[in-house]
Amino acid sequence: MKRIILILSIIASISVGNTTPINIHARTRVDSVYICVSATGHKYHDNRDCHGLARCTHEIRKVSKAQAIKMGYSACKICYK
Ligand SMILES: [Zn+2]
Repeated sequence: MKRIILILSIIASISVGNTTPINIHARTRVDSVYICVSATGHKYHDNRDCHGLARCTHEIRKVSKAQAIKMGYSACKICYK
């Protein structure tokens, strides 16, 4: 029984110590891009209203620029002149 209390107190201390908010949104806000998730989509876009994205008939996903590059996407010529 003592052991269970010890484990519980450890879990409690971990969860209390982990109060730092996960700043995913603040980070992706800086370099997030839009991609068209389709077999023909190879460009990432800076602007959600880009003409290239308007043609997209598939899902438009917001990802980080690093992730888009990793997925094989390159910069859109309209968005990145
Ligand atoms: Zn574009």
